[in-house]
Amino acid sequence: MSRIEEFELIIVGGGPAGLCAAMYAGRGMLRAVLLERGVPGGELLNTEWVDDYPGFEHVLGRDLAHKMAAHAVAFGADIRQENVESIVRREDGIFEVATSMGTVYEAPAVILTAGGTPTKLGVPGELEYAGRGVSYCAVCDGAFFKGETIAVVGGGDAAVEEADYLTRYAEKVYVIHRRDEFRASKILQERIFANPKIEVIWNRRVLELVGGPAGLRHLELEDTVTGERHTLPVTGCFIFIGFSPNSGLIKQHVAHDASGYLITDDRMMTSIPGLFAAGDLRVQLTRQVTTAVGDATTAAIAVEKFLKDRRSGAVGAQVGV
Ligand code: NAP
Repeated sequence: MSRIEEFELIIVGGGPAGLCAAMYAGRGMLRAVLLERGVPGGELLNTEWVDDYPGFEHVLGRDLAHKMAAHAVAFGADIRQENVESIVRREDGIFEVATSMGTVYEAPAVILTAGGTPTKLGVPGELEYAGRGVSYCAVCDGAFFKGETIAVVGGGDAAVEEADYLTRYAEKVYVIHRRDEFRASKILQERIFANPKIEVIWNRRVLELVGGPAGLRHLELEDTVTGERHTLPVTGCFIFIGFSPNSGLIKQHVAHDASGYLITDDRMMTSIPGLFAAGDLRVQLTRQVTTAVGDATTAAIAVEKFLKDRRSGAVGAQVGV
């Protein structure tokens, strides 16, 4: 039988958005719990340096994560290592958040900050060589490629930033982009154009990742303009082509865009009353640490108001109200 625990607010996910929401929930004296399957910090733990968080010109991602977690705990956050499997809103307006350890957490409000998982290229060889040359995390795996020639796929902030990071280990880093222009911010672009270990290969898409028993050996590329094919010898391939939001935890219909990102109102509330979303899994222009904590601040304060209205009977209990 499941163990049931009751709270006023359940925060799902312990990245910057979740930790910030927990900090505000603590300040607001809410009975809140934060459920995170791993170590708190989220994407900060996959980022070496953060240099766009106000007040911290240059801070290690893991140090910022530790500071955010400590700050939330100092305000009374209850952070638990639990893997959330489903979120369901009952007819009476209470959410049931079930975890793989068999506990069902119940609360009238949930802030979902579960982020996303890296998008796959979806080409032959990608899954076969995952962990044997193919990676989605430079900070985790970069050191395995000391002195080697590797590739980074993508043209956004993540690809460009991580390519630069990887040159501390790799002898040569090719950045393969499907167009002739990056979407990454200019400051990050300038950094890689100035890095002699990086060569950008424009207008190419990866058709296949090819290797043998020892791991990845080369990439088969296609010119997106001429259709010509090329072979690029590399022993590592880091893929940074965006990520898909972890919105599948919600077992009821919730408004989302074509890619699965959750649509919220200006209080960060989704189409399900009492279910708030903050950070990378929400529809928005950009996904930064700063936007994640901004969303979370709004969501946590909106939850306080939502709970107050609910207590006074101003919020309906039916789904779709
Ligand atoms: P992103 O901004 O969505 O960029 C994805 C890149 O991958 C794009 O260049 C895209 O090409 C390319 N791409 C997508 N699908 C592809 C495919 N199937 N094959 C080849 N290339 C493909 O994703 P991201 O770089 O992971 O960043 C996600 C969010 O986090 C962004 O909002 C970003 O600003 C933020 N972020 C910020 C920082 C920072 O500020 N330091 C660091 C990391 C991430 P096209 O350009 O042709 O579409």
